Formats: sequence, structure tokens, C-alpha cells
Amino acid sequence: MAYFITETCNGCTSCARLCPAGAIQGEKKNRHVIDLGLCIECGACGRICPQSALQDPTGRAVQSVKKQFWAKPVFNHKTCMACGICINACPAGCLKPGEPSRKDKNAYPELADPGACLSCGFCADECPVEAVTLEAPPEAMAKAG
Ligand code: SF4
Ligand code: SF4
Repeated sequence: MAYFITETCNGCTSCARLCPAGAIQGEKKNRHVIDLGLCIECGACGRICPQSALQDPTGRAVQSVKKQFWAKPVFNHKTCMACGICINACPAGCLKPGEPSRKDKNAYPELADPGACLSCGFCADECPVEAVTLEAPPEAMAKAG
């Protein structure tokens, strides 16, 4: 299964530039195509597309969201075991172990490169103790409310 680009695509190239798997091909101003064998279903192409031209693997249209409003991971240090599974799961490589403190020697993960986060949620999906949640920035919450 993979994401799919519909004929609404105008070839702006936003998705191809963002895709962490290099799964999207196409000439500028022409409809782009996703390689089913490469897509990891992160959904970033759907979130970034200004034409809302993407369908998810179930065939549902994906709405685009302004990048500044994308939800980002938050780590609960009460449950996190600092195992690093989330760091390895991130396709964008934007997580890293944080510095242990004097009180707590655990190197808890932190979002080292927020601008690179794809809001895919793979970190949360893979965490064995559900210590990762994706939260929208306060501006997005205010807009929604
Ligand atoms: S879902 Fe992710 S991996 Fe698949 S084509 Fe879109 S951006 Fe690339
Ligand atoms: S949501 Fe998590 S796994 Fe996905 S890009 Fe952001 S930090 Fe990486």
C-alpha cells in the first residue's frame, strides 16, 4: 500500500522535495507519481500538497495543513525508558538522545530538528510504552478552537 497522487496535481514539486524515501518522481508542472515500492506511508506528501492532490492508502483524500501547524512529538519522561526506539524509527532523522541531568541519568529523546519533523507519528507508533504523543503547536489549537 502507498499514497497516491490524483490528477489534481499541478507538478509544484513540494511533495517530491519533502518525501524522506525519495519515492516521488515527476517533472515540474506535470503530475507526479509515487513509487509503490518505496513509499513508507509517512503521509508528509499529503500534508504539504497545496492542491490536496493526495489520497491515503485507503483511498481517502488528504487535506493539506500549513507546515507551522504540524503536530510534533512530545516525550513523557515519567514513562520513557530512553530505549532509543523512537530515534531509530524517525525517517527524517530529527530525534537525538538528550543530555542526562544530574538528577536523572537517562538520555531521553528530544526533537533536535523541529523544522525537519514530518509529523508522521512513527516515533509514537513504535514506542513500546506509549511515552510519545504528537501535539499540535498552540497556534494551531487556537485556530481550531
Ligand atoms: S507517504 Fe511519505 S514516503 Fe510515501 S510518497 Fe508520501 S512523502 Fe513519500
Ligand atoms: S513525527 Fe516523530 S518519527 Fe515522524 S518525523 Fe517527526 S520526530 Fe520523526
